[in-house]
Amino acid sequence: MTNDVFKGPSNYNIVDSIQSKNYGGVHIFHCKQSQLTAIIAIHSTKRGPAIGGCRCLEYSDTNSAIEDAINLGRAMSYKAAIHDLPHGGGKSVLIKPKNIHNRQAYFHKFAEYVNQMSGKYITSVDSGTSTTDMNYVLEKTEFVLGYNRQEEHYSNDPSVLTAKGVKHAISAAVSHKLGSDLKGITVAIQGAGNVGSILCELLIKSGAKVKISDIDQSKVNALVEKHQVEAISNSDIISTECDVLAPCALGGVINEESIGNLRCKIICGAANNQLSDSMIAESLHKMGILYVPDYLANGGGLIFVASNYIGDTDGVMLSKIDAMHERVKNILSIASSEHKSVLEVCNRLALENIER
Ligand code: NAD
Repeated sequence: MTNDVFKGPSNYNIVDSIQSKNYGGVHIFHCKQSQLTAIIAIHSTKRGPAIGGCRCLEYSDTNSAIEDAINLGRAMSYKAAIHDLPHGGGKSVLIKPKNIHNRQAYFHKFAEYVNQMSGKYITSVDSGTSTTDMNYVLEKTEFVLGYNRQEEHYSNDPSVLTAKGVKHAISAAVSHKLGSDLKGITVAIQGAGNVGSILCELLIKSGAKVKISDIDQSKVNALVEKHQVEAISNSDIISTECDVLAPCALGGVINEESIGNLRCKIICGAANNQLSDSMIAESLHKMGILYVPDYLANGGGLIFVASNYIGDTDGVMLSKIDAMHERVKNILSIASSEHKSVLEVCNRLALENIER
């Protein structure tokens, strides 16, 4: 399988990059025939097999795909650890070719690479992959989740549980910061996609007022027709006046430019990497804005797939999601008592859990 071993770009020292980041391992494969270049980054297996989705996106170059896999894999470790799951973190990144001629063959080849990890990495669905793709992966490996299941189950879609978890995190943050429940609280949601739209419905059921935006206006219109929600333009959502800003679209939305325009008391949403830089957490802390770290707020989807892996009943799985409320509340209390940003405390607790 010599063509399956990708040498890596000559100007990029992957060994240095991994060692400097105290990383478990990064595996790079290439198969010319199926046009597949796959990077499997396993940050840690100290707590158990690494779980993390499989991205299939176009990248400007191989280095950025490797960096993406490395960063995402580490984030998965922190997420598993903070939610006390018996898993490490990893991620796979497939550098999407212009056209995938045979999707089934493409994901079969990827499954072969997953098998080469000997159970240290369990893959799942992520940006650019679907549950159908994971069914192809399942045809060749047992180390996969997030596929369409035949049997009766709560849901095949982690987004439902991610949204439920984000609602718990918002309600814990509101109770901590504002001393109230969700009734009458205004939440501005950026992104009416899988998670944002379900979160919107859950919040309305709890008596909150919702403002929402999406670059796809039809998604906003569908919610406006069904519920009493206020449509907000994409350019205004970050700076709209609200109690809670819930980024549920894309990363990097809280940055040097947008931070000065914020008119919220709490930031708590599903999007990964909401802060353009971790130093922004310090600035938010000084401004008195409570930022609930993304990986703490959006862990519901991971709890769901981890529950699937061990075969929890729906009841047990839902009780693990509900426990997020107390977990977030405790972490917010620790951060308050130490006068530190929640991100700093959360990172420390996650690292302690990884090393334990
Ligand atoms: P999605 O693709 O279904 O929804 C994202 C929505 O954001 C889309 O409707 C898109 O049109 C909209 N959007 C994109 N750019 C926007 C912009 N500039 N302004 C407003 N809207 C914009 O994705 P999702 O599954 O709902 O996930 C949302 C976020 O949560 C992502 O960052 C994802 O990585 C993260 N996340 C999702 C899960 C999950 O279970 N789905 C779990 C953890 C984290």
